[in-house]
Amino acid sequence: MTTNGKPESSEIDTLNVICKQAKTEDKLSGKNLTDLYDLFGQRFTKALEALKENRVKKYVFKPSNRIVWIVVGRERDYLIMPEAEFCTCDDFYFRVLDKKIHLCYHLIAQKISRNLGWFEVIDENDELYQSLMNEWKKATT
Ligand SMILES: [Zn+2]
Repeated sequence: MTTNGKPESSEIDTLNVICKQAKTEDKLSGKNLTDLYDLFGQRFTKALEALKENRVKKYVFKPSNRIVWIVVGRERDYLIMPEAEFCTCDDFYFRVLDKKIHLCYHLIAQKISRNLGWFEVIDENDELYQSLMNEWKKATT
């Protein structure tokens, strides 16, 4: 069925609901874990791995207070733009844009980490903002 061209939002909606619950309880319950696994399968396994290994980083640039979210991957860092539900990984690039998949594991990890506070905050100087952004962005060919 062709709709109006907008990707379905069910994955995101469900993830947001679970994140909200987790935030209230300050943890992921057994049921949350099961639901997430049912929804995302391997993507959730990888997201959970990233969370356990503390690979979600929140860069705060000073003094502007600009915020950049990064998920450290096996080979490189991935830049996440949570508001736009955007990620610089290949998974996102090839499949999300193709509308076959809605969220890569980096975005899943970032959303969960933000709700549960499972991330590391890194303070950086504004002077480094541009060069770091270039570094993170150029990874997408
Ligand atoms: Zn990604």
